[in-house]
Amino acid sequence: LSERLQGIFSGLRSKGRLTEDDINDAMREIRLALLEADVNFKVVKAFVKRTKERCLTADVLDSLTPAQNVIKIVLDELTELLGRTDSKLVLGSRIPNVIMLVGLQGSGKTTAAAKLAYRLMQESHAPLLVACDVYRPAAADQLQTLGDEIGARVYRGDGRDPVAIAREGVQDAIDSLRDVVIIDTAGRLHVDDDMMAEARAIRDAVRPDQILMVVDAMTGQDVVNVVEAFAAEVDFDGVIMSKMDGDARGGGALSIREVTGKPIKFISSGEKPDSLEEFHPDRMAKRILGMGDVVSLIESAVRVQQAEEEAVEAERMAKGNLTLDDFVTMNRQIRKMGGVSKLVSALPGGDKALGSGQVDEGALDAMEVIINSMTKEERARPEVLNGSRRARIAAGAGVTVTEVNQLIKKFNETKKMMRKMTAGIEQQAGKKGKR
Ligand code: GDP
Ligand code: MG
Repeated sequence: LSERLQGIFSGLRSKGRLTEDDINDAMREIRLALLEADVNFKVVKAFVKRTKERCLTADVLDSLTPAQNVIKIVLDELTELLGRTDSKLVLGSRIPNVIMLVGLQGSGKTTAAAKLAYRLMQESHAPLLVACDVYRPAAADQLQTLGDEIGARVYRGDGRDPVAIAREGVQDAIDSLRDVVIIDTAGRLHVDDDMMAEARAIRDAVRPDQILMVVDAMTGQDVVNVVEAFAAEVDFDGVIMSKMDGDARGGGALSIREVTGKPIKFISSGEKPDSLEEFHPDRMAKRILGMGDVVSLIESAVRVQQAEEEAVEAERMAKGNLTLDDFVTMNRQIRKMGGVSKLVSALPGGDKALGSGQVDEGALDAMEVIINSMTKEERARPEVLNGSRRARIAAGAGVTVTEVNQLIKKFNETKKMMRKMTAGIEQQAGKKGKR
């Protein structure tokens, strides 16, 4: 998905201006990329509609960096899709706090139970794992093994009645001074009434503080049906996406929030107990967009563009096509750099070079006032400045005609100097080229 999207964006970036057609093309591509990544088609449709509407507004299309804005909007909408805010695991004040895990068989519940326990232990909690999967013969053993590995207590009961085991588990936590109970339940391969009924029975028996649904990231298109079924039949508070380390196409993560309104709280990416990470929607969105790279690409593209524009300007000026507006710009730049005197004195030997001819910053101001009194045409083509024009400008700027003449003289000298400099640079470049 990341690669596809990056391809789309680099296509957009290669265009300076974007038309409605460009946006339509890009959105069509994004639609396909999302569908290919197993994002639910309704989610894709809504996402593309929202994103397109935002992209087609005039201030995006007419902006100087439309491609960048489009990428920003896509990132923003993706983040929205994944849930705007981080949803941390918050334990209630009840002790013991009860967390119940539900999900299909093989989704990663037992593994996630141990990972959660491990995480809670890192945060100085004392969790108890309760094995309520009584159908798979090795299920309780698996939980026991994982519990032993991380040093967490496991309650197995008689291994027959899941509701009784859950209830006894909570009591065991009280007796053994554990503050969090994690209930691992049994799943089925498919959504099934017995499974839902059992999950409800456990839920009603222990009234968990939160129910987390474990979803295998590789589930594909079916993920929406599964989470919808669990939401309707058992209800849950958040999702743990497991197996994010596999070659999951990420579609599930993008669909769940939109379809159920339930946040993803954790992503699990490995079989080790410490491979459970909190879910950050913005990071995930960036990861999907391969944003690390995209952002730096945009940045370098902007830098190149600016450098090109500056180069074109500099070349025009250097060719001696200096206008009086350029003169003002130069003047301002000099001032920004802290005035000519400071600049020159900062150079080696600058103090001496400056001599008595201190540059008068007041003169720079006066110059600008004079240039401001000129018409656009006069500024662009100073050669039209005849006597009557000069007199008009002098009157307008409140200076004498002599002062106007001096300015024009200075301007012409600068122009000549720049031409000489360019000739020198070109000569040097020519020599280099011959070598
Ligand atoms: P359950 O049936 O829902 O309890 O699922 P399990 O916890 O037994 O996990 C099923 C299989 O998936 C096991 O082989 C786990 O080791 C594996 N598994 C679970 N979570 C992850 C994960 O995040 N990454 C990988 N690679 N494997 C996982
Ligand atoms: Mg299990």
